[in-house]
Amino acid sequence: MEGQSNEDRVGISDFILYDTLTNEDIVENLQERFAKNKIYTYIGEILVSVNPYRDLQLYTEKYIADYRNRERYERPPHIYWVADTAHKTLARFGQDTCILISGESGSGKTEASKVILQYLAHNAAFGAGAAPAGSRQSRSIDRQRVRAQVDRVAEILIQSTSLLEAYGNAQTTRNDNSSRFGKYMDIMFDFKGDPAGGSMRNYLLEKSRVVHQQAGERNFHIFYQMLAGLPETERKRLGLPQGSLRDFAYLVQGGCAALGKEDAANFRKVTQAMDSVQFSSDEKDSCLRVTAAVMLLGNMEYEADPEDRSNSSVRVKSSCRQAVAQLAGLLRVPPDGLVKALTSRRIVTASDSVDKAYDLPQATYARDALAKAIYDRLFNFVFEKVNSALAAAGHFDSDGDKRRAIGILDIYGFEIFEINSFEQFCINYCNERLQQLFIELILKQEQEEYEREGIQWEHIQYFNNEPICELIDRPTSGLFALLDETCLRPGQLTDREFLARCEREFQQRPSPHFDSRKLSPADKAMQHERDFRITHYAGAVVYSVENFLDKNKDTLYQDFKRLLYSSSDRHLSSQWPEGAEAANRVQKRPPSAGLLFKQSIQALVQRLAGMRPHYVRCLKPNGSKQPGSFDSRLVEHQARYLNLLESARVRRAGFALRLPYPYFLQRYKLCDSPAVWPHPPPGMPPRDAARSILARLQLDSEDRVRYGVSKLFVRHARTVFALEQARVRAL
Ligand code: ADP
Ligand code: MG
Repeated sequence: MEGQSNEDRVGISDFILYDTLTNEDIVENLQERFAKNKIYTYIGEILVSVNPYRDLQLYTEKYIADYRNRERYERPPHIYWVADTAHKTLARFGQDTCILISGESGSGKTEASKVILQYLAHNAAFGAGAAPAGSRQSRSIDRQRVRAQVDRVAEILIQSTSLLEAYGNAQTTRNDNSSRFGKYMDIMFDFKGDPAGGSMRNYLLEKSRVVHQQAGERNFHIFYQMLAGLPETERKRLGLPQGSLRDFAYLVQGGCAALGKEDAANFRKVTQAMDSVQFSSDEKDSCLRVTAAVMLLGNMEYEADPEDRSNSSVRVKSSCRQAVAQLAGLLRVPPDGLVKALTSRRIVTASDSVDKAYDLPQATYARDALAKAIYDRLFNFVFEKVNSALAAAGHFDSDGDKRRAIGILDIYGFEIFEINSFEQFCINYCNERLQQLFIELILKQEQEEYEREGIQWEHIQYFNNEPICELIDRPTSGLFALLDETCLRPGQLTDREFLARCEREFQQRPSPHFDSRKLSPADKAMQHERDFRITHYAGAVVYSVENFLDKNKDTLYQDFKRLLYSSSDRHLSSQWPEGAEAANRVQKRPPSAGLLFKQSIQALVQRLAGMRPHYVRCLKPNGSKQPGSFDSRLVEHQARYLNLLESARVRRAGFALRLPYPYFLQRYKLCDSPAVWPHPPPGMPPRDAARSILARLQLDSEDRVRYGVSKLFVRHARTVFALEQARVRAL
């Protein structure tokens, strides 16, 4: 039976085989399979994966070989089938494909993307070297050159992971190696199907972690790795004190004051990866210096300025003077310029400019904003370095058109916390758009398949979430637009005013997907005045409007930008091009964080829309990172947010299963009457042969099956069960 190979008789290996399906069925089946270490299950072509939290030896060479060029129903569900199919689609049909991986933190997305990468790189190791025209000798030289380039691209893709994870991942309560950014990677293949290059993009790094961590969580790995792995002399050179983690205010916000066992070893991997993606020694030094500077910034403290009579403005604490000099040295900027930017800002109007000294909250805010911004730009710099290395290593045939891509998206799933803020708003918006794309693409795929196979198209009922997407991203009246509008109004505006603006909008033009405390006072789900609620496709989420304005404006004062631009470290300076603008000009507002995010997601969706998608939905079996334990409630919650039920429904809306004729005949020909064996007669077209078998079993009515060009379309799973029973009887 499709999806249910002989080697896999635990539970049901494809949810499409259910006649009726509920969320409880989904959880029960996943649990039964999980208990037998079957972590993968299909919903048609969608792969559902449950994190085993232990090494099940599923990614060995044997498995790689086992899934090469296999059809889905020939082997038990596995992520290699997804990788292989993506590669096959590309190699056979010349079509770009993408693999979209989603799930909540700790569910195994990043591991999945690495395993896919490993499969594709390994595949290439077998595939390279169809000889181009020319003499035998030049052919073999060419082949060696291509071979070397393919290896190089694969090496960069795999090696860069430890570098990007050092800067972009952290230990959280949900995952010891949690990615704090979204990642999209394009792997380009040449016409022979070998990796020929690649590029990556990142989305929304959680930079607030640089200055603050929740209880039990750490800052980004790189800080600890440096402290654990730097040789003594280097550490001294960078001015990092030789004490405990407690000496670094930014590193112990979550109360985690111990280095990890693997920090030192991982630091070696990071420096190796830097070499591998060809950081010059200058660039390497710049990265480490700037990272050290961020750590030291956290120790910068302020005290009341005795010269200020009003007693509100502050200066850098006298005990920190030495640290300031150290910091300025690391950033290669003048110390007095740094002190000035940390304690005051220049306010420029059309006619005038004045320096305004900070009070304590302002100075602390400015310091933290600086640390976050420096880190964020540094992360982008590292990302871009990996991209240039990939570009340099890539080889392309003169005929660039033959290049094809496999895109891999490892991005945060739908999030719902106790308190949901701007970050969750962005992340959930992203999932909303990806869901919209999923619906569009699946329906399109279905329609195309029906056309190809000559089956009459039937309309599919589904939940369309486009109105929710538009509620958020519509120009001028969507939530992002209203937020920008509020941020642009003059004067000291508050988050509540943004909420009031939304309420006015939705009083005039009510939306079933937006609600707030004021619009529905009786609704107990929204406890505070600051709350508003969006009914997402995956469920209702109450957001707290607090800090929306601030996070959207994402202000960093021009004083800092100019300071960093003026750095004599040209790598750092290049990260701050806006600092070049003259000091006395009124500054144009940079685009808001919300707008930038919205645009990046729209561009992503546009890119993905042209590709043939494959989906991996990752689930976390328990909240304690433990192998072997399966918390049904937790899994049900995720299954709901990942919309597994709806996916299964859309997938089998028309026909539950499609069986290619050769497979059908091979499996069911023995159900035919042995009296006229061999039947169907050799040479009979497969479609007619299938029809005759079904007729004999009285399973051939229109409401059961339709005959496509290359496959049989079966409406309900129960027809396949009937076939299976007939087969067992005949055995
Ligand atoms: P996510 O990216 O979804 O937050 P990760 O991919 O980082 O989650 O997975 C979290 C941890 O779970 C990993 O560090 C690893 O220990 C474990 N894990 C995830 N997937 C697998 C797998 N397929 N097999 C074994 N362990 C896994
Ligand atoms: Mg991850």
